[in-house]
Amino acid sequence: MINVTKTFFPPIEEYQAQLQRVWQNEWLTNRGALVLELEEKLKAYLQVNSILITNNGTIPLQIALKLLGKGGEIITTPFSYVATTASILWENCTPIFVDIHPDFLTIDETQIEAAITPKTSAILATHVFGNPCNIELIERIAHQHGLKVIYDAAHCFGVSYQGQSVFEYGDVSTCSFHATKLFHTGEGGAVFCNDEKLMHQIYYSHNFGHDGPMAFHGLGINGKISELQAAMGLAVLPHLERIIAARKEVVGFYLNTLNFEVLTTMKLRENTHWNYSYFPVIFETEAQLLRVQKALNDHEIFPRRYFYPSLNKVGYIKDTAMPISESIAQTILCLPLSHALEPDDVAQIVNLINANL
Ligand SMILES: *Cc1c(COP(=O)(O)O)cnc(C)c1O
Repeated sequence: MINVTKTFFPPIEEYQAQLQRVWQNEWLTNRGALVLELEEKLKAYLQVNSILITNNGTIPLQIALKLLGKGGEIITTPFSYVATTASILWENCTPIFVDIHPDFLTIDETQIEAAITPKTSAILATHVFGNPCNIELIERIAHQHGLKVIYDAAHCFGVSYQGQSVFEYGDVSTCSFHATKLFHTGEGGAVFCNDEKLMHQIYYSHNFGHDGPMAFHGLGINGKISELQAAMGLAVLPHLERIIAARKEVVGFYLNTLNFEVLTTMKLRENTHWNYSYFPVIFETEAQLLRVQKALNDHEIFPRRYFYPSLNKVGYIKDTAMPISESIAQTILCLPLSHALEPDDVAQIVNLINANL
């Protein structure tokens, strides 16, 4: 069976060697030695100025929205994982959708200004599939209107834009280390913020607001990652370059052999050093997509309809028409992509797709 992705399992001895340290320390959570070490290693690997690792990639979105969204209207993309919109609602803010660009699949920055009202507090945009939003323009608009910018950069591990980590942009950026993501700790995530005062608020918010054992800076929640998760991260990280190189090969094969007279794929923004995190293809019609999906499923190959439905169509959300996002959501399929795909598997996937268009 071939799924859309395959979680990387480090050699078990390497994981056990990390666990050995946890047993030696007899310390399981509350920012132990392995968490601190993983943060330092990630800081160096990603070349970022600040990082706080967390128990998943959703809690940092919630914390950022709590601190910066302040119950207001949040301008956001309808083409993302449901966590992006759900976090907005969970923090009692209101999502205001702005449609996406049909080539880049990121929020259409030219439509943002029209969506701003006196209640708008922030923009929450997703660098979808690791493709950066139009960061310069979003920054300019935010600056002009006094808005905060939060990037859901869940897909962006290792992505750089204009020569620096994409996590360095925005007031806050977040990442996910879920098992299906490029770099993982089983469950986990991170938050990046270069404003020291805001990072301090994020830091205490992720630990119940504690200021020492008996005092509190303010309201908080539990966003802490454990030593067991950090152990997995420390065991996975040394393999990451090899994982990315293997994925790059698969993407190269897809690009050279799929029938792009019929299909299209996401256009990468210029000056992006991408991470090969997802390989989306866009069909001409949903019927064509369903035909190809069935042919693949019949051979035990399971691509995923990332992202379907367009988030304005999720039942609990007030719907506003988002024609491009809806059309892309109906016709996009993420093809299998992992370190473990063999050339024969990729060839079979391509043959089945091209034969069923
Ligand atoms: C995976 C993902 C998240 C949530 O991350 P978790 O670590 O699963 O909480 C948020 N946004 C996007 C775009 C994602 O793909």
